[in-house]
Amino acid sequence: MTLRSRLATGLILIAIILVGPLVFAIQSLHRLQDDARALRDNDFAASLLLGRLREGLNDLRRGELALLFSKDKASRDTLDDELGQVGRLADSLSHFQLPAYGREIAESVRQIAAAAPSEYRAALANQPKLADSISANVFVPALNHADSTVILAEDALSIRTGHRVSDQAANISNTARLSAGALLLALIIAAGIAILLTRSISEPIRNLQSGMRAVADGDLGYHLRLSESRSDEFGQLARSFQEMTRQLSELDKLKAEFVSVASHELKTPINVMIGYLQLLDEGVYGPLTDQQKEVHKTLGIQANTLSRLVKQLLDVSRFEAGSGRVEPRRIHLDALLEELESSFHVLALQRGVKFSVERQEGLPEDVYWDPDRINEVVGNLLSNAFKFTPRGGSVTLRFEPADEGASVRIEVSDTGAGIPPEQVRHVFEKFFQADNQSAAQAGGTGLGLAIAKQIVEAHGGTISCDSSVGVGTTFAITLPVRVARRSSGQRLTTVAAAERT
Ligand code: ADP
Repeated sequence: MTLRSRLATGLILIAIILVGPLVFAIQSLHRLQDDARALRDNDFAASLLLGRLREGLNDLRRGELALLFSKDKASRDTLDDELGQVGRLADSLSHFQLPAYGREIAESVRQIAAAAPSEYRAALANQPKLADSISANVFVPALNHADSTVILAEDALSIRTGHRVSDQAANISNTARLSAGALLLALIIAAGIAILLTRSISEPIRNLQSGMRAVADGDLGYHLRLSESRSDEFGQLARSFQEMTRQLSELDKLKAEFVSVASHELKTPINVMIGYLQLLDEGVYGPLTDQQKEVHKTLGIQANTLSRLVKQLLDVSRFEAGSGRVEPRRIHLDALLEELESSFHVLALQRGVKFSVERQEGLPEDVYWDPDRINEVVGNLLSNAFKFTPRGGSVTLRFEPADEGASVRIEVSDTGAGIPPEQVRHVFEKFFQADNQSAAQAGGTGLGLAIAKQIVEAHGGTISCDSSVGVGTTFAITLPVRVARRSSGQRLTTVAAAERT
């Protein structure tokens, strides 16, 4: 699924999930509205009907009195009408689920209606006693019974309405609770989808970001966790990334091979020049004038700088072209220390610098490092220390155990010129030279520390620098006691390329 369709699907899902509770709430409101309408149509209408029935019964009572007093036809007709009306009202009660009461009232009305003609006749015939007796024995009791039935029906109706209203109230609060619960659930699901969606996008981006950073730092062998076989845009990016690193590695290999071949080719003419300069110095071609000696000296310095630069370029390119490979072997630590001490002893005497070698307790007898490479690194740090330390100063080489015996820490410290604080972090960059060259006893190329860092890292170790201007500089290397055969992982070229040089 492409990124765009994944985003669209995710957003539509979230929208549907959020709309769900809304639809549910609207439906519930509709149901409540229907129920309220039913309540109004039923119970409210029933209550009105009962009211009218009560009125009708009262009218009957008044109509009977009127007939008994006025004894005329008009009163009789009115009473008849009222009887008919009350009878119809009583029949209507059956429509409002109150049929029993309706029947009772209708029965009373029927009794009244049956007795009414006799009562009319007695009243119209001026037989008040007979009329009164019919009224007292039939009319009034039936009317009273109808009245009390209406009251009973009203009570029943009010109880029924009360139940329905409390049912409605319970329904409303249930609906509110369900709607809130559904909304909460929808929010949780929507948040889950949003998190999954974000993660499915941010994780590959983070992975690509680390890949880009690694490439920017020179690690062309970085492997993305992102699968190249993905069908979305990230799959395309992963494929482009791998293609880019492959081409960069190829380019890097070509560059390293070119530098390696070029510096190798430069070595011969430089050595010839230095050889002839030596012969001139030895007077093989006759004595030199003072002016010629000056020129010879300058040429000598420049030729030596050139030779050192070519040697270091060759070192870097060989190391890079050889995948930064190290060949660890067993080294007797004491032998390494002695070799370094004797190598720099003479230089220390020549420069008038005190040189001390310190070996702390707890060091292993043997370590597994690439001896030539480590000699090169420590030799370079010591050369720098002597180069930047004035006569009368001191240089110390210290070996001590680190990481509870799992590593060895090598420190080279001097009391020399020091490095300006803002430049310390750049000293391991290729061709970087700090603003302290005036204090140097000899020229340099700015490559030594870059090579040293590569070698130390290829051993799985670290190198750091601490320096104060006018006080001195300390370089510290930490190397694991046992280094497995490995490469720095920064360059991916064959050893054969290095060996060809
Ligand atoms: P080079 O010594 O050939 O210039 P390096 O890579 O060995 O190149 O060192 C880079 C720079 O770091 C040096 O030019 C110097 O400015 C600074 N530096 C290295 N070691 C020391 C030291 N012990 N004291 C002062 N500066 C140093």
